[in-house]
Amino acid sequence: MNQIKDYRQYDKIAIMGGTFNPIHNGHLVAAESVRQQMGIDRVIFIPTGKPPHKNANPMFNEHRYLMTVLATVTNPNFEVSRIEIDRAGLTYTIDTITELKMRCKPECKIYFITGADAIQEILTWKEPEKLLSMCEFVAVTRPGYKNEKLVKTIKSLKDKFKGRITLLEIPALSISSTDIRHRVLAGQTIKYLVPASVEEYIHKFGLYKAEDVYSPEIEAINAKLHSVLTPKRYKHTQGVAQEALQLAGRYGADSDKAYIAGLLHDCAKCLTDEEKLELCDRYSLVLDDILKSQPDLTHSFLGAKIAETEYGITDSEILDAIAYHTTGRPDMSLLEKIVFIADYIEPNRDYFEGLDKVRELAYEDIDKAVITSLENTINYNKKKKRLIHPLGIAALEYLKREEKNEKH
Ligand code: NAP
Repeated sequence: MNQIKDYRQYDKIAIMGGTFNPIHNGHLVAAESVRQQMGIDRVIFIPTGKPPHKNANPMFNEHRYLMTVLATVTNPNFEVSRIEIDRAGLTYTIDTITELKMRCKPECKIYFITGADAIQEILTWKEPEKLLSMCEFVAVTRPGYKNEKLVKTIKSLKDKFKGRITLLEIPALSISSTDIRHRVLAGQTIKYLVPASVEEYIHKFGLYKAEDVYSPEIEAINAKLHSVLTPKRYKHTQGVAQEALQLAGRYGADSDKAYIAGLLHDCAKCLTDEEKLELCDRYSLVLDDILKSQPDLTHSFLGAKIAETEYGITDSEILDAIAYHTTGRPDMSLLEKIVFIADYIEPNRDYFEGLDKVRELAYEDIDKAVITSLENTINYNKKKKRLIHPLGIAALEYLKREEKNEKH
């Protein structure tokens, strides 16, 4: 049953919307920072019900809600609403705001706080124009995520919606729910990443201990990969996915995307050269002379196409990370760098010269790690008298130029 309270005594309220699976200290710090910066009277945490963009496990609704209550109970300015959890059917933010607006005084300002990557997709939400006329958006990001593309997207949304979106970088958001779930699964500590009450709740109910973490989609991906890759290649992809996940945690990238891109990066690798060339033709991939003479190099570009058509991946960031995992390219995204380096350093790799150095750099400075691995690969291929793909050379030159500019 919907339990909607009256908010008429407030001048400014904020909705903190998210899956909260589970809620963590990053969310709490973000909500408290926004509350203070914007002079907000009340922050209402609203765990999503059935989000329109994903398949949620309904069994987790009550757990997510109760953990959010436990996490927020000590802050007198926070409260949690079941408005979306109790709503039948799909959850749309416009319906939530419409419902809440009826409980506020007419001049009350409403803010909607959520992750910046969700807000970037706002044009695909239900009635975005109306939504932005009803409330202001606060897009919170993890450190390192505030890249040129994000700033550009937010700026164009700001122009379109007359400034009703603010972008805020919250260092504490380097904590992520995905990382917490994976930590529990791996038997690692989550102390100080979530409130003690949430930690206790997770352990008491044995949450995230089993395949709950892995969606049916990931199970299906693994089953298919198992059937098309050699055992050694399959083991390598599991290593890359795991490494990509850890790097995503280190650099604040989207862990789900890193994990999936890592799993699928070599999905075309075990095709024969003839099959690769035939599929390149079928997918209208234009091959330059180097790709024609070394068909194996096509596996990354082809992998992106196969990930899209055969594994149902539609996210362009994941597809680009697969497409450029072998050559790299100028101005790589953080996710592209993560998959590129995860492929190079994953723990199942046989040792080769230079590997230790890149493993060391990977968690210190990802750009330096990409530079060193590109240099190693280019030198290795030169020695083997193989042609070097221009994208790799351009990627290296780009990163070196960036590094030089940073020094000046
Ligand atoms: P999500 O899967 O929970 O999160 C996406 C990313 O944003 C994750 O990196 C997440 O980090 C981060 N994030 C989520 N909520 C956050 C918050 N409040 N503060 C800081 N970081 C947050 O979220 P989602 O499913 O995309 O939904 C986010 C909100 O947008 C929800 O309220 C949802 O209902 C709304 N939404 C509405 C529509 C629509 O109306 N059509 C469509 C999409 C989304 P963690 O994993 O660490 O939380």
